[in-house]
Amino acid sequence: MGDIYNFSAGPAVLPKEVLKKAADEMLDFKGSGMSVMELSHRGKEFTQIIESAEATLREIMGIPDNYKVLFLQGGASMQFSMIPMNLMTNNKKADYVHTGQWSKKAIVEAKKFGDVSVVASSEEDHFTNIPKLDPSTFSKDADYFYIVTNNTIYGTEYKDIPDTGDVPIVADMSSNILSVPVDVSKFGVIFAGAQKNIGPAGVTLVIIREDLVGKADEKVPALLDYKVHVDAKSLYNTPPCYSIYIAGLVFEWIKENGGLAAVEKNNQEKAKMLYDYVDQSDLFSSPVEPASRSLMNVPFVTGDKELDVKFIEEAGKRGLKTLKGHRTVGGMRASIYNAMPKKGIETLVEFMKEFEKDNKK
Ligand SMILES: *Cc1c(COP(=O)(O)O)cnc(C)c1O
Repeated sequence: MGDIYNFSAGPAVLPKEVLKKAADEMLDFKGSGMSVMELSHRGKEFTQIIESAEATLREIMGIPDNYKVLFLQGGASMQFSMIPMNLMTNNKKADYVHTGQWSKKAIVEAKKFGDVSVVASSEEDHFTNIPKLDPSTFSKDADYFYIVTNNTIYGTEYKDIPDTGDVPIVADMSSNILSVPVDVSKFGVIFAGAQKNIGPAGVTLVIIREDLVGKADEKVPALLDYKVHVDAKSLYNTPPCYSIYIAGLVFEWIKENGGLAAVEKNNQEKAKMLYDYVDQSDLFSSPVEPASRSLMNVPFVTGDKELDVKFIEEAGKRGLKTLKGHRTVGGMRASIYNAMPKKGIETLVEFMKEFEKDNKK
């Protein structure tokens, strides 16, 4: 079988080196005679795994000391509820920027707990851009300001983080965390489901500024209270041990490969290859405004639904897998996360050229 390149939006491609290491350690983790899946979450081996995963993450992201790192369950979607339950507790107000289906779901949850002001939206443009933000429309007394830094389905990404003054920014970074360096101190909370750029599904990363912990109402269930997880160092109950282990290996892989600066350079080069080709193509086009284009998720279309189907089918036969666009958007989408090798994009672009030649409009 030839090489397979998986362009899935998530669960997504993982680094081969990480999978090989996990395979090597599968039956006997460091002489324990047990698999990581079989280790007690309170034993010394797993303690070492979770502590070093956090330490490596802190190092590669430059997370300041006044931020807590949590490994939770429930996916990014559970954060849509946990955020308002824990933070919309002062003035019971929050500002949201609406950039697609993930912000929509988050807005629906937040409305259950207080007043939501949608300060900007790209809905009228079918979410093909990150809307212009006008700080004069921001609520000065909002408990937080919510953004989705990368919109996985539509392929848009913030290039600048808004200045919200003293209002903490909450960022859903599920699909672009660890893709470029970020200044964590600009955020109150960063969260991300793991299955795009971190590791296997099952673990959700939450990075939260200390002063935002402990604000939940007394009636909030323990498992949904950040303070409970902070106090227990993510071990209030059994955590997703194996997912945390793989995430730790991915953090190591990033560190060994030059850290986030090197990751960004690589991601810029990969995305450029694909966008440059699409922009000069007579067959393919990108629906996304150039200034808002994502480095991680690249939607493209031929403008002919039947031709899109043919493309996806033929690409699959060449080992270029999971290129179908989101069911609500159609067309194609290449998700090119950190672990997608450059060779994968080269192979995709080569195939697109060939397809274009054979299917002239
Ligand atoms: C995938 C995704 C989610 C949902 O993640 P789950 O872990 O499935 O809940 C939320 N936000 C963004 C930006 C995503 O890409």
